[in-house]
Amino acid sequence: MSESIVLFGPPGAGKGTQAEAIVAATGKPQVSTGDMLRAALTAGTVLGLEAKKYMEVGELVPDEVIIGLIADRMNQQDARDGVLFDGFPRTIPQAEALAEIASVSLVISIEVPDESIVERIVGRRMDPDTGEIYHVNFRPAPSEVVGRLIQRKDDNEEAVRTRLTAYHSQTSPLADWYSEKGILKTVNGNQPMDDVAAEISQLLL
Ligand code: AMP
Repeated sequence: MSESIVLFGPPGAGKGTQAEAIVAATGKPQVSTGDMLRAALTAGTVLGLEAKKYMEVGELVPDEVIIGLIADRMNQQDARDGVLFDGFPRTIPQAEALAEIASVSLVISIEVPDESIVERIVGRRMDPDTGEIYHVNFRPAPSEVVGRLIQRKDDNEEAVRTRLTAYHSQTSPLADWYSEKGILKTVNGNQPMDDVAAEISQLLL
């Protein structure tokens, strides 16, 4: 099946966490624009430097930068049978560009109310060695890895509020856009991780 899946939802909805199980179930590679931009930033590329000023404050990186990044990624061999998009598309122009380069058969929207988001994001930590995502209260890391956990620079309250505003004004209209195409499925993201995963696995059958 050469069709792609989009994982959609506000920042902190658990897209990255749920992506792992979807990759395992479908064999499709995860394509996370946030991860790609952070890798470019760490590598110090021109793209990374350009993206940095937006990412740090929680604003969206301009569409043409993101669309170029995705067009390159979709030319790679492992993308030929479709991919799992995580954090892309985030605007209507991005979705329109995507429609030209890939066929999307399913959009999984993980719904989480705003009031849960700040707490989820501010407590989020990542293990840089494994990529595993923890939360100081909801998913504490084992003691042997606690010392090496890192926090994303944009996982602070101020940037989260800007990210939420960007989500509501630029990204959430995409839910209607995909719903009109009949491919949007929603899951309740405000429940334990395993229950979210169970709802998602039903959609993949
Ligand atoms: P994420 O890891 O998906 O939360 O993305 C982190 C940051 O990267 C966002 O706050 C944006 O600044 C930028 N970013 C990631 N994906 C996109 C996208 N599809 N469009 C615009 N900006 C993006």
